[in-house]
Amino acid sequence: MGVENLKKDDYKYQGMRKQLVEELREKGITDEPVLKAILEVPRHFFSDNAFDVHLHMDKAFRIACGQTISHPYTVAYQSTLLQVKKGEKVLEVGTGSGYQTCILLHLGAKVFSIERQKPLFQKAKNLLLDELGYSVKLFYGDGYKGLPSFAPFDKIIVTAGAPFIPEPLIHQLKEGGIMVIPVGEGEEQVMTILIKGSDNQYEKIELDKFKFVPLLRNKVK
Ligand code: SAH
Repeated sequence: MGVENLKKDDYKYQGMRKQLVEELREKGITDEPVLKAILEVPRHFFSDNAFDVHLHMDKAFRIACGQTISHPYTVAYQSTLLQVKKGEKVLEVGTGSGYQTCILLHLGAKVFSIERQKPLFQKAKNLLLDELGYSVKLFYGDGYKGLPSFAPFDKIIVTAGAPFIPEPLIHQLKEGGIMVIPVGEGEEQVMTILIKGSDNQYEKIELDKFKFVPLLRNKVK
């Protein structure tokens, strides 16, 4: 691998992340482990354009295949709701750039992440496994089905807008487990927390509205 391929972080980027964390605090994010993870994870590693001035503002930006990396606020919001404890098994649906995946890893989770678009899966795999050396399980597949052979999970996070809560995901959640999923068919989705009880029963809490790219069926090449 040539030196030009090595990802570099420096004081300039760290300074921009400090500012980003302050902006998130002002917007109401108070979870210290989540803010620490955002401070630690070099956001510019996940973009094709590390010099983009918007990268460290609270904005979403484009990645390959017409997808986006979520707003830092959205990542922080969902990560806070997930209440990740060290060593917990977390299923993420929608790997995308791998940024949210990386935040979960910094929170100490054992992460299993699925992406339906082959080029994004491949890119995230090269970055997280080969370049950055994280221990993470990445899958190319349809997140509507979850990962039955690795279930049950302590937590499930869905990072695309789901028209409904997929039944297999509810099944694959541990009793007492939490799922965080944006639900809605139109332009906007309602951030929803599902807390699983016994006998596949669950409690649902609906929170703020967000705009996500849609959760689509079937994997694509
Ligand atoms: N967590 C990502 C956000 C990416 S946007 C990040 O931090 O960058 C949502 C992602 O979900 C897209 O990459 C999209 O391709 C993927 N996706 C949509 N439907 C899916 C499905 N059924 N299974 C797996 N991934 C899906």
